[in-house]
Amino acid sequence: MKQPAVLVVEDEPAIAELIAVNLRHNGFQPTVAPDGSTAQREIDAVLPDLVLLDWMLPGESGLSLARRWRSDPRTKAVPIIMLTARGDETDRVAGLDAGADDYMAKPFSTKEMLARIRAVLRRRAPEQGAVALEIGALKLDTATHRVTYAEQPLKLGPTEFKLLQYLMGHAERVHSRGQLLDKVWGDHVFIEERTVDVHIKRLREALGEAAAMVETVRGAGYRFSAQAMTSVPAARG
Ligand code: CA
Repeated sequence: MKQPAVLVVEDEPAIAELIAVNLRHNGFQPTVAPDGSTAQREIDAVLPDLVLLDWMLPGESGLSLARRWRSDPRTKAVPIIMLTARGDETDRVAGLDAGADDYMAKPFSTKEMLARIRAVLRRRAPEQGAVALEIGALKLDTATHRVTYAEQPLKLGPTEFKLLQYLMGHAERVHSRGQLLDKVWGDHVFIEERTVDVHIKRLREALGEAAAMVETVRGAGYRFSAQAMTSVPAARG
């Protein structure tokens, strides 16, 4: 297997070097960029398998870089883990909303960093075999990675796609946040249950009229239900 390439965007040389050494010793190929413009040049040259992105950088911030890479079709699928000295909830949610896959508050241990990187790479790994799911007017196809509602295409982020795939594949059942983390995120050791709510919110936004199918079950979790839709939409031409 090829060594995963990791772009480390970090302006503090001592931290960047420590991360790079540890990545190299653990089977990764790190490249260090001390600022946003260097990082952009690196990413333009070679698409990495993952980006470790410091929030506080000279010039353009990590948050702004994450947003830019998420909106560019070429880089939108590259997993991003934000690194920051700021650890509060608002920042974490802002990081996830900017499209980061995960968030690590400094200082972190090498063990934690490697576990998070492996977890993100694992859940970004392509699914084995194609699955086509259809519930009511909502269709999801893993082969084409497309979701449509009443034949209209919907735009979902990679995590929302996996979440919807799991919910549609296990419809009418109630799933706790812990169960969803386990099944959709794969390794929830370092991910908080609040993360599930952030992605459910984004999934509902992406589903538009079909959002009612994602039900909140008070005190229990979430359920995907076709019965939650009061009317079946006519196909729009
Ligand atoms: Ca910094």
